This record gives sequence, structure tokens and C-alpha cells, in this order.
Amino acid sequence: MKKIIVQKFGGTSVADTEKIKNVADVVIKEKENGNDVVVVVSAMGHTTDHLVKMAKELCPNPSAREMDMLLSTGEGVSIALLTMAIQAKGYDAISFNAMQIGIITENIHSKARILNIKTDKLRKNLDEGKIIVVAGFQGVTQEGEITTLGRGGSDTSAVALAAALNAERCDIYTDVEGVYTTDPRIVPNASRLDEVTYDEMLELAHAGANVLHPRSVETAKQFAVPLRVRSSFKSENDGTLIKGVERMELYQPVTGVAADLTQVRIAVCDIPDKPGMAAKVFSKLASENISVDMIIQSYAQKVSNTNDIAFTVTKGDMTKTLSILENLDIGAGDVKVDDNIAKVSIVGAGMIDRPGIAATMFKTMGDLGVNIKMISTSEIKISCLVDKDDAHKSLKALHKVFNLESEITADVKGDLPEDN
Ligand code: ADP
Ligand code: ASP
Ligand code: MG
Repeated sequence: MKKIIVQKFGGTSVADTEKIKNVADVVIKEKENGNDVVVVVSAMGHTTDHLVKMAKELCPNPSAREMDMLLSTGEGVSIALLTMAIQAKGYDAISFNAMQIGIITENIHSKARILNIKTDKLRKNLDEGKIIVVAGFQGVTQEGEITTLGRGGSDTSAVALAAALNAERCDIYTDVEGVYTTDPRIVPNASRLDEVTYDEMLELAHAGANVLHPRSVETAKQFAVPLRVRSSFKSENDGTLIKGVERMELYQPVTGVAADLTQVRIAVCDIPDKPGMAAKVFSKLASENISVDMIIQSYAQKVSNTNDIAFTVTKGDMTKTLSILENLDIGAGDVKVDDNIAKVSIVGAGMIDRPGIAATMFKTMGDLGVNIKMISTSEIKISCLVDKDDAHKSLKALHKVFNLESEITADVKGDLPEDN
């Protein structure tokens, strides 16, 4: 039986017809290597941002269902165009959207998780020798409702397809040459990593390294899918391999640093100091599918026997979070919002049992005059919440202090997107 390779191309890789022709060549090369090829594509260029903007112009708070109806259209355009480009080069290809295949998701709009993928149609078409082009980012519920997986979710579509098809590998083609020690658009002398473990990549992705959607790494780890990040424009290069095997010697305590500018901090003040209060707040948020990231509880000084709880959520969940908190009847005081924040993180399996890493991080930021508002840690990650304006200078200083710089300047074109 032939090996199956899943390839995913992001928005910048299919931004115009010239770039789509280039993608067709990369796909055909893999087919010519003797493999069966399933391709996942995102919407062209900034299509999704443009659709979001139009929706907001028409309606301040559009319904999640209609947003999914709208945003899922972007990927429909690119699958058909890429398929035509492949066919024009003399190869047999067919496009499918998530409904046609049966990429079944939870019944949640705007951040649905994939429950299962039907593979019969895919296998039949591969057996007929066709290259298959699948729309990323979208799914369908058991009831036939269209869903999307969350911004950047095409990576997750690709890895889930690779897992369902037992593919040999999932290649994520993008506009940089792999995973770097930090975003090369912010730090041009970031170093490209040859390999990174699933766990480190997962932490980096959650910390804001948006080269991979965090859930794609989660799925790759769960199903042991070897995942490669490589350049659409220098497709002959190997890029970065993300895999399960730990490196034998961890010379560097820190593998990468990242900043996330997409969160807001919400503080609920003067919560009565008695059992069950935190549970009430967070179980209500969870029941509405709101993910909370950093959490701090501190003893409030103004009102005795009360606590303040501060936590972070993504900007997209802010309005919903505030309306839930307004209706929570727990006898708490004010709710305060700070949207001028960023999370800066250092990640590395090498920091386990190595004392002094956190101290070095805090000292570096202290020396810069950066005030740390919240701290959270895992075994292989330390995150600090800082003012938004302090994010990039902290990132650059941490990248330097942990010796992550390269001699070579990364090849990146275009501006840094908003909120990066
Ligand atoms: P695509 O459209 O291909 O999905 P994305 O914009 O989602 O591309 O992801 C690629 C971008 O991720 C890069 O252009 C880079 O600016 C950014 N990025 C952030 N952190 C990292 C990192 N550690 N390594 C590589 N790229 C990163
Ligand atoms: N087109 C979607 C987005 O811009 C999905 C993706 O690109 O992965 O978020
Ligand atoms: Mg992406």
C-alpha cells in the first residue's frame, strides 16, 4: 500500500494565483515521490480577517452560527482553485469540503473540536489515484450544522486527517522555514530548530507561537503523527520536525520564547472568602466553553474576609465572560478589565530540575524596568503577564539572555499581523 502524506498550506501560501500554482507544484512533487497525497488549505491571504471585518460592520455582535456560515466560505474558494491548478498541470485531483467528507465536530460554534472523520470517501478517491484537496478550518455537526475550529484551525484539520488516515507524516507548509526559537518577525536572528518535542511545541503554541494551532500539536501528540513545519517557498528544505522522542542531552534549558497579545485580564474583586466561590466562577465559564489561562487569587485588603480573583481569557471571549460575571450571584464586588496586557513565556524541557531559570527570567525583566503582573508555571514553561508595550522588548531580552540567537537572519517577508 502507498504511504499517505498530508500537506497543509496556510493563507499566505495560497494568497494569489501565482502562489497557488507554486503550491500545485509542491503537491505534485510529493505525488511524484510515489505517495498518496491529501492536501488541506486555508482561505486565501487575509480572506478570513476581511470576512470578520465585514461582519462587524453590519452587526456589532454577530451570532456565532452566522459567523461560522460566513468564515467557512473562505476555504471553499481555495480548495476549488488549487484543485483546478493541479488539474491544469495534468494530474487528477478533487476537492471536498468538511460536509462532503464528514469531518464531524462538537455542536459548538467558532471553536468546535473534531470528534471523528469519515475516511471511506477519501480512501476511495486515493485508490483511484486522485490528489485530494480538503477545506481546512471547517467541520459539520451530527445534525448537519456548519462549524469552524477556531482561528488558525486548518493546522488541526490537517493533523486530524493525518491521524484518521494513519498517514506517514503531516507537513505544515507556511511562510517561514520552520519553528524558530521565537517569532522571526519580531527577532530576526531567531534560530530555526531542527527538532522540537510535542510537549515543548504545545507549550510554545499555547504561549503565542502561532506557527501552529495548539490543538494540532495536541492531536499530533495523541496519535503520534510526525509533524513537520516547512516553507512553501523553499519546499526542498526539511524545516522543523515535531516528534515525541526526547533529546538525549538537553544542553539548553530554554528552547524557545513567545509572546501572546490576544488576552485580557479580568479581576473579580471582594469575593467572600468561603468554600465553593472559585468553583462557581470557573464552572459557569467552563459551561459556556470559555477557556481560562492564568489565574491568581489574592487576599483582598480593602474588605475583610474576601479575596480577589484575577484571570485571563482571550479577547474574543471577553464580552461573554463579562456578561456571565454580571449575572453571577456570589456577593462579589467590582469586575475590572485590563486589555493592555501581554503574556511573555519561556519554554524548554531542559528547565526541569534546573534551578535559577525563573530567577534569570525575572531579573532580565526587572533590569528592563518591566513590571510583572501575574506569573504562571508548568514543568517546562514560565509565563509572565506584562503591559502590552513591554512584550516585545521582554521577548528580545529573554531570547538573548537564554542564548537563543543565530548568526543567520531569518528570511521573512511582510509585516507582523496585528496582535502579534
Ligand atoms: P499560515 O498562514 O501558514 O497558517 P501563520 O501566520 O498562522 O501562517 O503562521 C506562521 C507565522 O507564525 C510566521 O510568519 C511567524 O511570524 C509566526 N510565528 C510565531 N512564532 C513563531 C515561531 N516560534 N517560529 C516560527 N514562526 C513563528
Ligand atoms: N482561515 C482560517 C483563519 O484565518 C483558518 C486558518 O488559516 O488556519 O483563521
Ligand atoms: Mg496558521
